[in-house]
Amino acid sequence: MNRKYRRPLIAGNWKMNKTPSQTKVFMTELKALLPKGRWCDIALCVPAVCIPAAVRVTKECRIAIGAENCSPYAAGAYTGEISCEMLKDAGCKYVIVGHSERRAMGETDREIRDKVRAVLQAGMTPILCCGESLEQREQDVTREWITMQLRADLEGLEAEGIKNLVIAYEPIWAIGTGRTATSEQAQEVCEHIRTVLRKQYGAKIARSMVILYGGSMNDKNASELLAQPDIDGGLIGGASLDPEKFLRIVEASRQDQL
Ligand code: PEP
Repeated sequence: MNRKYRRPLIAGNWKMNKTPSQTKVFMTELKALLPKGRWCDIALCVPAVCIPAAVRVTKECRIAIGAENCSPYAAGAYTGEISCEMLKDAGCKYVIVGHSERRAMGETDREIRDKVRAVLQAGMTPILCCGESLEQREQDVTREWITMQLRADLEGLEAEGIKNLVIAYEPIWAIGTGRTATSEQAQEVCEHIRTVLRKQYGAKIARSMVILYGGSMNDKNASELLAQPDIDGGLIGGASLDPEKFLRIVEASRQDQL
């Protein structure tokens, strides 16, 4: 990562794990173990029902809480949905948008684009996920696919908005499989993402944008991945469920270790 222009972000994605009571236990433990140094931003995106407990415990500490999804709509007859205003009011700072698990449930680029805008409008940071399938990687169309996803998901977004966005490169074949992309593979795509951003928004904005890698990142492989120039942090699923493992990844993003 390049610390001259960007601050690392280590973000967890709990998916559908932990109850509100377990959240309270986890956050209390995490808070107690939190290192004093502030070399990176830390966020945990948790199930909607866990947000109040997470926010309560992490109040007045530097752990930011995020959501795993949001509605693209402001309010109305959308049973079961949660608006960005509600998430913001509950204390969220981040929202994951376009995770491959949600895309697999039928979420479209159009919806993702609207969600990105809704998150930004509410004053939170979207963590926009993109990534190729194993088939696409084997067919050597990863770059083209990522370019297409970004174009579709960021369509019409002005420079002012994009500055507050985080992009997570998550190869689908590496999520939850224990099969991590090599640091070279991850760097190559993250560099490509920055090139796409540079072409669309200019060099100044592209070099200031935080790009994460996600896909079986853990306390063993984080240092090498985070040492790559265009990888500014991680979006971590499985390894974010254990406070000690998660904090070892936070430690791996320390400047003096890279
Ligand atoms: C994720 O869900 O975003 C993710 C990267 O999961 P895992 O770390 O478990 O592969």
